[in-house]
Amino acid sequence: MPELPDIAAYLTALDERIMGRRLERIRVKKPFLVRTVDPPLAAAEGHRVAELRRVGKRIAIGLDDDLWLVLHLMIAGRLHWRDAGATLAGRNALAAFDFENGTLTLTEAGTTSRASLHLLRGEAAVRDADPGGVDPLSIDLAGFRDTLRVENRTLKRALTDPRIVGGIGNAYSDEILHAARISPIALTHKLSDDEWQRLHSATVTTLQMWIERFRNEARNGFPEKVTAFRPDMAVHGRYGKPCPVCGDAVQRIRYADNETNYCARCQTGGRLLSDRSLSRLFKGDWPKTLDELETLRRR
Ligand SMILES: [Zn+2]
Repeated sequence: MPELPDIAAYLTALDERIMGRRLERIRVKKPFLVRTVDPPLAAAEGHRVAELRRVGKRIAIGLDDDLWLVLHLMIAGRLHWRDAGATLAGRNALAAFDFENGTLTLTEAGTTSRASLHLLRGEAAVRDADPGGVDPLSIDLAGFRDTLRVENRTLKRALTDPRIVGGIGNAYSDEILHAARISPIALTHKLSDDEWQRLHSATVTTLQMWIERFRNEARNGFPEKVTAFRPDMAVHGRYGKPCPVCGDAVQRIRYADNETNYCARCQTGGRLLSDRSLSRLFKGDWPKTLDELETLRRR
């Protein structure tokens, strides 16, 4: 699932290409993509892009008449930049946004359709679309700790719940927890001051490092290789491979339709997390799928 660093890369690439440009036409190949009916999509046509914004894991494209196109890519949605008027070919193609200088296309791999597009009127509606999690890059240590401590959750769950923290998913939570040297199943009500300090600082430095890298890549070309699995990640997607810090094999806990990767030596005092820890992950009412987690909203 595209997370904060991936969204930042898309925004960098979109800023160079569509800021101030006129959206001439929207072509939708799969109607389920569009989750709003009023205003109709055609109302967005003919308007210029006035602002680009990240809303949690969503990309919001603001037009000059205060209409906002809000895209949620979910797990398999991806953006591409093509020559103006590019055809919507292939079964993964969902929609095309034709600008005067090129076409932004949206695809979604796989058989389940999760990506969504909302056309909203006014900033208040955009704020309302936000699941409510805090921005991990701007919140200070005290605010971060207070927010994550509201409920007693495992850290893995607290970091990836869009109602608590915005923009972090399965991949970067693994990387953050490894950098902080804290167990994914540590409970938010049990962390020491030192651990909060490490977690907050690891969150900021890990996200910033990847954002910086992806933004630099995006300046050299549209991000076409967005993936949750990067060979130079420390633990995420690296089960059985050596931890870059201590050399021990990276471990995993499987849950729902996914897995969490961690290094036992660096994060759990050498202890392997087992079934018991798995039930602890579920105890905090972990949804059955990551999709379900992603669609939770603050009420
Ligand atoms: Zn290690």
